[in-house]
Amino acid sequence: MSATARVNAVPAKQSELDRELEERLVRYVRIDTQSDERSTSSPSTDTQYDLLRLLVEELRSIGAEDVRLTDYGAVLATIPATTQSPVPTIALLAHVDTAPAFDGTGVKPIVHRAYAGGDIRLPDAPDVVLSPTRFPYLGTKVGDDIITASGTTLLGADDKAGVAIVMTVAHHLLRHPDLPHGPIRIAFTPDEEIGRGVHPNLPDDLKADVAYTLDGAELGEIVHETFSADKAEVRVEGVAIHPGQAKDTLVNALHLAARIVTALPHVTLTPETTAGREGFIHVYEMSGTAAVADLHFILRDFELEGLAAHGNLLQQVCATVQATEPRARITCTVTPQYRNMRYWLEQDMRPVELAREACRAMGIAPISTPTRGGTDGSRLTEMGVPTPNLFTGMQNIHGPHEWISVQDMARAAEVCVKLVQLW
Ligand SMILES: [Zn+2]
Repeated sequence: MSATARVNAVPAKQSELDRELEERLVRYVRIDTQSDERSTSSPSTDTQYDLLRLLVEELRSIGAEDVRLTDYGAVLATIPATTQSPVPTIALLAHVDTAPAFDGTGVKPIVHRAYAGGDIRLPDAPDVVLSPTRFPYLGTKVGDDIITASGTTLLGADDKAGVAIVMTVAHHLLRHPDLPHGPIRIAFTPDEEIGRGVHPNLPDDLKADVAYTLDGAELGEIVHETFSADKAEVRVEGVAIHPGQAKDTLVNALHLAARIVTALPHVTLTPETTAGREGFIHVYEMSGTAAVADLHFILRDFELEGLAAHGNLLQQVCATVQATEPRARITCTVTPQYRNMRYWLEQDMRPVELAREACRAMGIAPISTPTRGGTDGSRLTEMGVPTPNLFTGMQNIHGPHEWISVQDMARAAEVCVKLVQLW
């Protein structure tokens, strides 16, 4: 292709990286990979294999080595070192599943080429409007190529943007053996959104000294601090009997469950009333009958003392309601989920410092905001592989307003290419 034809064929603002990232993201988001918390299999849904198997093929076709799909549904591969000197093995990770929280089937990605500013209306839901007034970050992306869904589904940039970035970086490094770097491991994991992304075998299979997840948001974001997280399950067993003969015998589990919920704080300590460094107790599911009711909670805090206090408060409320009705049986089980990665990373900040240096080298100001959530890196860090989270550009995740700038993704890919060389 002549140089002129090439320039004419693509929008002026798009680089080679931009084009590859856009092409990959648009293709990957069309594949339904929603995970399912109710499933006990690993991965939780078979549809995730559609993307996992495609990634195996694509990694082989770009010349990656040791490509394999593990029996727990992770794709692993190696990009061999281009330098002889002994350097740490760096892993780049992204998750293939999308959040079960919103419809993720039949995603129709739309590229809004060279965004001119103003509102973006989505064709399948006229009331879903992306407005820079409501989403100020969008207002900073005038001229960029913006990708959205069509209004009725999420986009799935979380985390197919990460998948597209890791694949594009792998492809770029394999085509440029002149760039000096150590061994690089690639991993695509399932079920991050339901907190099961890190299988117990993953750290051993990954064989990396340091890892980075590509699962962060705005330009320059480098996260080394996440929530510490527990979940809690409360079971209320009442006394069941035919309502016609229930006088003085029926103990209604639903009434007791409702009292537990109303006794918990409403105007503080909930996700909708907290921000920044505050933690919360969140009841996210109730189900049951007059005989038995189940309440599902997540407990979150940046500090372990705060997390323990949330668990204690819930236990106390359960004990108080139990005391009012000895014929019922109320149990509350608190289970650890993941821990703030800061506890490990602050002992050796090199993985974070080098990521910041890579950003600055690309002219991007690094930002570190504590994430009100967890990543696969939270568990991996706890299991011995320090894993900060890097930006991808994804915005308004888990809903119909999700969007991403192709050029933000390209900056993330450039930071990764720089970062592996810095190591
Ligand atoms: Zn994610």
